[in-house]
Amino acid sequence: MRVLFVTDLHGIKWKYERLFEVARDFQADVVINGGDMLPGNNDLFRQDKFINDYLDSHFARFDSAGIYYLCYLGNDDLRIFDKLFEETCNKYSFVVCLAQRKFEVGGYKFVGMNWVVDYPFRLKDRCRMDTDDYMLQEQFGKGLLSTPNGWQEIDDWFTYAKTLPTIEEELNQLVCPKDMSKSAYVIHMPPDRLGLDKCYDGAEVGSKAVYNFLTKYQPKLSLHGHIHESPDVTGQWYAKLDGAICIQPGQLNEFTYVTIDLSTMEFDRIKDTQGSKKVEG
Ligand SMILES: [Zn+2]
Repeated sequence: MRVLFVTDLHGIKWKYERLFEVARDFQADVVINGGDMLPGNNDLFRQDKFINDYLDSHFARFDSAGIYYLCYLGNDDLRIFDKLFEETCNKYSFVVCLAQRKFEVGGYKFVGMNWVVDYPFRLKDRCRMDTDDYMLQEQFGKGLLSTPNGWQEIDDWFTYAKTLPTIEEELNQLVCPKDMSKSAYVIHMPPDRLGLDKCYDGAEVGSKAVYNFLTKYQPKLSLHGHIHESPDVTGQWYAKLDGAICIQPGQLNEFTYVTIDLSTMEFDRIKDTQGSKKVEG
């Protein structure tokens, strides 16, 4: 079972183009795209255009090639587009929206979760407190939720956040495969304590709940993203947690991805610059 994992592409087309080429060359059975898939630099309310004009045909290529493509949106992808995203995935039998869901392929079970621990940034569509006793950080401004009519400002985000399920609760609600040695979790949020969660300013922002969950259940593999710079800051892009291998490849200027052979558990991280000089369109 050959798996290719990539995360945090943020709508960069040349990276998506390379993703198809390297998946084909690696003869991947499964590609996993771990969230924050849509462009974030222009108007977030136009992310639907990227789904319709680009992702749809991107998915079609994998579908035609018979390569499974498991994916979900991330915290920078607006929730108002979840339905469109899922409908677009559902057009292709090889493409699966893995958010809060399990999918089995080649005898392995993949389980996805795309909620994130709250941060100081204003967009709160997928933010949660980590655990019940989580201390919310100082904020950059009033919280914002996407609605079809534009932003909805949240007057008191802290009070509102306390009414939502925590990351710990969200993880416990996931379907739990019986055989963890044949299971892989795809969790946008990295765990804490493993050097996979460090920002440029030195802050370690990983999730305690994710760490505890992985420690408790020991899946064969867990795949994370979210903190693009962490591997460059810590020099670490994977960690062993007893039986589990936890991978967080990061994503900076180069197209960065990980190849994994699930049978032998050989894995490698590749930074690819081919295609970066192509004109961005
Ligand atoms: Zn993210």
